[in-house]
Amino acid sequence: MPTYEFRCADCRKRYEVFLSFADYDGYKPLCPHCASTNVARYIRKVRFSLGDRSRLASLADPENLNALESDPQALGKMMREMKTQLGANDLPGEFDEVVNRLERGQSPDEIEHDLPELSDDSGGDTMDVDLG
Ligand SMILES: [Zn+2]
Repeated sequence: MPTYEFRCADCRKRYEVFLSFADYDGYKPLCPHCASTNVARYIRKVRFSLGDRSRLASLADPENLNALESDPQALGKMMREMKTQLGANDLPGEFDEVVNRLERGQSPDEIEHDLPELSDDSGGDTMDVDLG
């Protein structure tokens, strides 16, 4: 089930919620810290949903994942290898675009800024590789 991360504008704390697609449609954000409804979806970094963290781990040394976050080109290369192994059908349409940008040296933050659709409600789940 995808993880959605939210950030409360009142107490500025973040929290995560596990929601299915169907649940997300009807989800009313509510801060668990201060009960505020002044909560916005928080996108920390580019994430791709590959369903299962162990699949990702099998494709990359987990100890390298943190380093990859600060090395967009290495991350792009790793993601391209993942695509080869997983098959294109599992991946969102934005995957190639993101990989290309990473390989050009754009940071995940920049890519999110350029591709706001990555954080659309409808696309939220498909971009969920947690590299942290
Ligand atoms: Zn709050």
